[in-house]
Amino acid sequence: MILRIAIQKSGRLNEDSLKLLKECGIDISNGVNRLKAEASNFPLEVYFFRDDDIPQYVEDGVADIGIVGENVLYEKKKSVEIADKLGFGKCRLSIAVDKSENYAGVESLRGKRIATTYPVIVQQYLDEKNVTAEIHEISGSVEIAPGIGLAEAICDLVSSGSTLFMNGLKEVETILKSEAVLIKNSKLDVEKQRLLDKLLFRIQSVKKAKNNKYVLLNAPNDQLEEIIKLLPGMKSPTVLPLAESGWSSVHSVLNENEFWEIIEKLKAAGAQGILVVPIEKMVL
Ligand code: ATP
Ligand code: ZN
Repeated sequence: MILRIAIQKSGRLNEDSLKLLKECGIDISNGVNRLKAEASNFPLEVYFFRDDDIPQYVEDGVADIGIVGENVLYEKKKSVEIADKLGFGKCRLSIAVDKSENYAGVESLRGKRIATTYPVIVQQYLDEKNVTAEIHEISGSVEIAPGIGLAEAICDLVSSGSTLFMNGLKEVETILKSEAVLIKNSKLDVEKQRLLDKLLFRIQSVKKAKNNKYVLLNAPNDQLEEIIKLLPGMKSPTVLPLAESGWSSVHSVLNENEFWEIIEKLKAAGAQGILVVPIEKMVL
């Protein structure tokens, strides 16, 4: 029994998808044949496709699971399930208009032409807002559409916004926040589901580790209690005596989101020699 995963052949998701598998301890011998590769230490076969085709292939069972952006998934409307969000490939699908335009909310789009490669998502958005506009589906270089008189507005993927800026456009609405997700065929048999659960367990360990840092610090014993109170840790922090009497070494795990705030409080409470170390895997 082997689990077949579809990932993007080349493009923005390819490298991060392969990296995730690697971080899960799965080695892929990437042969000359770039259509398919096999893992040497996990029952996994990797298929390389255009991202647009991945939802269809997973629905049809050509692949059991796949990695694709939510933007593509919602545009294709295939019946597959999301097994997990992966935390990379983050971007937003936004509407932009000429920067000189006096934009006053979605109503301003009424009767306008909107160029996009995401006609399904845009139509859905307009319907929700009760706005009628003309959607022009084009297959690429959407950002030049207003400049050549093809449309008054566009809807496209944005990450930094620099492409919009260079084309004299401004972002006015975000209609979807997207990241890469792991999708699965909705009728996986028991054995494949078991393999997928194994893979998901590893993915979750990798994700948790990325969101956390291992912190080591020295604390004067009379401040220990206060310092320990600041540390959430997995259970409670490890405290070891230092060779120098009156001092202890404290080890704990901090979440990325609260990291800086806690570090400042630790310093204020008298912690010294604070070391912050990345965690490779975190199994809870
Ligand atoms: P393919 O040849 O596979 O069809 P593509 O040109 O459609 O590739 P890419 O540009 O490689 O696709 O983007 C793949 C995915 O990466 C997007 O669908 C989106 O989910 C994600 N992504 C993340 N950041 C961005 C960004 N700034 N611009 C475009 N896509 C982004
Ligand atoms: Zn594509």
